[in-house]
Amino acid sequence: MISENLESILKELPQGVRLVAVSKFHPLSELQEAYAMGQRAFGENRPQEFAAKAVQMPQDTEWHFIGHLQTNKLKLVLPYASIVESVDTEHLLEAIEAWGERNERCTRILLEVHIGAEETKQGFSPEEIPALLQHASDYPHVEFCGLMGMASHTDDPEAVAADFGRIKALFDSSLATFPNLKSFRELSIGMSDDWRIAIKNGSTEVRLGTAIFGPREY
Ligand SMILES: *Cc1c(COP(=O)(O)O)cnc(C)c1O
Repeated sequence: MISENLESILKELPQGVRLVAVSKFHPLSELQEAYAMGQRAFGENRPQEFAAKAVQMPQDTEWHFIGHLQTNKLKLVLPYASIVESVDTEHLLEAIEAWGERNERCTRILLEVHIGAEETKQGFSPEEIPALLQHASDYPHVEFCGLMGMASHTDDPEAVAADFGRIKALFDSSLATFPNLKSFRELSIGMSDDWRIAIKNGSTEVRLGTAIFGPREY
């Protein structure tokens, strides 16, 4: 089933849009099944599970951390992360920088932007992004690679499109304002329920869990 799901998603995915297989809560055997199909990028949102899976999967697996990250968990995540997509506070940014300085490592990150209607969703407000990018050079061990966002939980496709449209506009204005930030080129939007809408709104990367692996058992 995983292989059929992957195959049909990849067939539909336009060129230039990458697929991150969100494997949280799924056993290693299911990640291995996706890996055997050629899938290399996986997303996880819990530090312990992320680290445990990272050491058990082949070396060329690409690990995207997509969950809330507490600064006391950096040592579980940063050694394995190809990218941390969920940087949502300046405090976390500073901690990643400090870790990178100590360990002589540069960490690729996305700034998570709050675009949904829910109060509780984590992320920077769109208004905070320009000032952060303005000061990108204050973080020599952090590579600012783009933006990540989650749309509102709603069945209304127009509301979802409006959320994605806002982050796309912010992404485009950031590109225009900071042309020297060469690494800044990813817009990570789109999950199982809304990835087709995200692609229409300029997604460069979709993060799909349920659509590949089926429902999660919490
Ligand atoms: C769980 C999760 C996903 C994948 O969700 P699905 O609806 O199962 O595709 C994508 N992004 C983030 C940040 C997540 O936490």
